[in-house]
Amino acid sequence: MKLYRVRAVVLNSRQMRDAHRLLTLFSREKGKIKVVAHGAAKPTSRKRGAVQPFCHSELLLRRGRELDSVEQCEGLEIFPGLWEDLDRMSYAGHVVELVDGLTADGEPNQAVFELLLHTLKAMEGTADLELVARGFELRLLSLLGYQPYLDGCVNCGSGAINPVARFSPEAGGLVCPGCFSGTRGVPCGGETVSVMKLLPGWDPFKIDRLRVSQQARGEMKVIMREYLQWHMEGRPRSLQFMEQVQI
Ligand SMILES: [Zn+2]
Repeated sequence: MKLYRVRAVVLNSRQMRDAHRLLTLFSREKGKIKVVAHGAAKPTSRKRGAVQPFCHSELLLRRGRELDSVEQCEGLEIFPGLWEDLDRMSYAGHVVELVDGLTADGEPNQAVFELLLHTLKAMEGTADLELVARGFELRLLSLLGYQPYLDGCVNCGSGAINPVARFSPEAGGLVCPGCFSGTRGVPCGGETVSVMKLLPGWDPFKIDRLRVSQQARGEMKVIMREYLQWHMEGRPRSLQFMEQVQI
């Protein structure tokens, strides 16, 4: 079969020569794939709306020798709310970039697809983008097999981690005070541990019901940035961007 159909979220859309666009998609059927959308950057192109970043689209693809190409596409959800606000746009950019950076080509993962869609929908309306992003990061890491260990010390197994534990990105979890020495860990208080355990199972549409202190938010931000960097090659661009605009 030369033609096949997928449902996908557009992770990245790069301009190429001749008004073509190179798309990175996360599809329900085939996981992450790169395809070319011929002429999609032309103002008159019918493909234009459906190949924008964040868009949830249905695409009819044609197999090619090097790259498959978009034969037809239809935008199912365009998420206009994400484009109307710089904070929402940068958080949504962070989410698609993490999926791009942490998944391998051609490995379908229905749960990651659903999580991605659900998170983008929530980010259109929620007031607490930061907690939605932290919940997304933790859930995504868990679905991909990188769940951080938060039930005790990852080194000695001790449960006595409070009040001052550290999170070690290299070790993949908490480290107790007795095992601190020589560990480049990030401070991680009791509230932070509780919230990090709670967030992956929390519906992002109900995130505004959670009360989290500024201290725990600050600790989580550093922990997740370090842990994600550990798992991604290079430094995610969106993390740099988030630091620049102080969100
Ligand atoms: Zn220990």
